[in-house]
Amino acid sequence: MNMLYEGKAKQVFETENPKEYLVHYKDDATAFNGEKKGTIHDKGVLNNKISSFFFELLTKEGVPNHFIKRLNDRDQLVKKLQILPLEVIVRNIVAGSLSKRLGIEEGTPCKRPILEFCYKNDDLGDPFVNEDQILALDWATEEQLALIRQYAMKVNDVLKAFLADKKVTLVDFKLEFGVHDGEVLLGDEISPDTCRFWDSETNEKLDKDRFRRDLGNVEDAYKEMLFRLTGERA
Ligand code: UDP
Repeated sequence: MNMLYEGKAKQVFETENPKEYLVHYKDDATAFNGEKKGTIHDKGVLNNKISSFFFELLTKEGVPNHFIKRLNDRDQLVKKLQILPLEVIVRNIVAGSLSKRLGIEEGTPCKRPILEFCYKNDDLGDPFVNEDQILALDWATEEQLALIRQYAMKVNDVLKAFLADKKVTLVDFKLEFGVHDGEVLLGDEISPDTCRFWDSETNEKLDKDRFRRDLGNVEDAYKEMLFRLTGERA
């Protein structure tokens, strides 16, 4: 199969269907814009399963997305997207870069969810951009931006409620969107690589911050998330 793209955590392959791609999940992990590199044993398998689970949930809840089906432990079939060059971040609780930038203690709850946009560009370190810049620089249309807003908030509502039941607090997460046959669809992945998940009772981190901050038990945290979501012991 012809590999079209290799990213930090995934490879994308062409399929016989020109409208579909195969996404292969790897064990490689990076943080701080690629400065920190490592591997997390079986992360690819865990994230493929976790992300597939979340996308199936979002399909049921009516959020248009690229996911077609999981093929095996590491591969999934998705609709081909023209990715919009944006990282869309939703936050319920102050953490990570927001905590640093504004000097607000990590763990401070937000009065309402925050939506942020970054320009997806590794060389520039994914800089923060506002909606005026996105429109003026033609990275998305007003209609697309309105849908992105609406879908991002819906994803937050659906995941927050689902996870609360599993005793997990959804702190923040990053989404990517693209266009397929003229339609805006949610793409990329939703996993402990792209979200902050805290145990609701202990605030223990169950996400990539364990790798970023050298907290140990990284693989166990990903396994615990798969177990809480699906009941499957990896
Ligand atoms: N995030 C991501 N990819 C990025 C940047 C952020 O998936 O390139 C996720 C991150 O895991 C967290 C949320 O987006 O769940 C907010 O991240 P933040 O802006 O706090 O940046 P960080 O502290 O991760 O550098």
